[in-house]
Amino acid sequence: MSTTETVFRLLVGLTGLFFLGLGIGFMAFPDIFATVFSVEPAYGLGVNGIRSDFGGLFLGMSFFCLLGATTGRYRWLAVPIIFLLLIIAGRLIGIDLDGPSSAGVKSLLVEVILLVILMGSTVVLALKAGSNEKGLRVSELLNLKTLVGAAVVAAILGGLFLSQKKIGLALVECIAAKSMNADVIADLPDGLHVGLCGSGAPFADLRRACACVAVIAGQSFYIVDTGPSSERKMELMRLNPGQVRAVLLTHFHSDHIGDLGEFMLKRWAGGSNKSPLEVFGPAGVETVVKGFNLAYSLDSEYRILHHGPATVPPTGAGGLARPFHFPPGKNEAVIIDTDGVRITAFQVDHTPVKPAVGYRFDYKGRSVVISGDTAPCQSLLHQARGADLLVQEALQPAMVGILQDLGQKIGRHNIARIMGDIMDYHTSPEDAAKIAKEAGVRHLLLTHILPPLPVSILKGAFLGDAMKFYHGPITIGEDGLLLSLPAGDKKILKRFLL
Ligand SMILES: [Zn+2]
Ligand SMILES: [Zn+2]
Repeated sequence: MSTTETVFRLLVGLTGLFFLGLGIGFMAFPDIFATVFSVEPAYGLGVNGIRSDFGGLFLGMSFFCLLGATTGRYRWLAVPIIFLLLIIAGRLIGIDLDGPSSAGVKSLLVEVILLVILMGSTVVLALKAGSNEKGLRVSELLNLKTLVGAAVVAAILGGLFLSQKKIGLALVECIAAKSMNADVIADLPDGLHVGLCGSGAPFADLRRACACVAVIAGQSFYIVDTGPSSERKMELMRLNPGQVRAVLLTHFHSDHIGDLGEFMLKRWAGGSNKSPLEVFGPAGVETVVKGFNLAYSLDSEYRILHHGPATVPPTGAGGLARPFHFPPGKNEAVIIDTDGVRITAFQVDHTPVKPAVGYRFDYKGRSVVISGDTAPCQSLLHQARGADLLVQEALQPAMVGILQDLGQKIGRHNIARIMGDIMDYHTSPEDAAKIAKEAGVRHLLLTHILPPLPVSILKGAFLGDAMKFYHGPITIGEDGLLLSLPAGDKKILKRFLL
């Protein structure tokens, strides 16, 4: 055997072992591997699919690599090569649809390297074999080496399953230590940072909680809207609820306030805060805060009795309404101006919902405008002028129109009516793009996504013609997204915290 052949067979063998590790990992710990590889399982069925599909795929590829490496027969390598080509094709389609992510590009690089190794080995082994290599023999599949290999894999899998409890406890300690020590905000560079803790709207959506935007200006942490399920998303993003400085509500539709009680509770219990959570909003915020305070009053009593006043100081329970009003003849007002952060509330058009507002954040030369729920309106355009980032609610009328027609056809007239009603008090992606262009913003982030987009392929239909009207970057918001605007810079950096 020549040195070249030995080197390539060794490389193929290592590739096979790499796939073997992945296969065993997906079979034994599908949810952990799914998290590491950014695959999102939906409930038990999803975990089952990941275990079987990914586990089976990688173990199969490993089998053929190891067979090629041990027998020196290049034809076995055709199988993993074909799979790798298909995987790379899928990866490229995904990057095209969803945009490049650092994890996706890294995976692509690894796959291309593995493909080059396998193809190079095929060429070297084919040249070596000349015309001597005949058809594939069953004995190559069922020989002592492969049987021993299969037994070793089975033994490893069995061992891992039998040690599940021990491994589980060790993992709990490891993961808890990591998350309890995490301080995402302290680790951020100075600047403005915008995180989506809820990018959805009232429709049930597996991928998106209801409206909630986290804004971190320097070290000050604000929350705009507290839609249902958003508090959990915020914690999953490892943003500490105890550090929330204030909540700002845009209006009082349920998809913007449903989690307010949870935010009050978690900020209190999570940070042993001695003063209630300040909740800013237009007129009506007093009623909302009063209602949540009342609803959570028994829970607060239980917790003080159970954990003691040092852990949960009684003065810190609940929320404190901070209503604001616009001066006569004005439709905007600066409501917070502290520690270099200026927050301006401005009126928007969510008729018949009145009042409804949006917010503009300015910090060290960087600016973010959050539209709230609104149809296109002059005050939003005015506030967005020259802003770095416009976080704009969006509803695609072509898609909602289909749901409206469907509701009519199947006799769900209430659904059809609601679909018709919501069309004119939101903003289409096309109109959002027009506002972004006219205002000259650097980046348009769409959120409050209506209707839900359960699969990525719907993103093109959702955007419609938006890209014709605005040539800057448009991002369709997803829960966990963090856009960073470093101070003293013009960059807008994107990453995911989930
Ligand atoms: Zn609304
Ligand atoms: Zn809404």
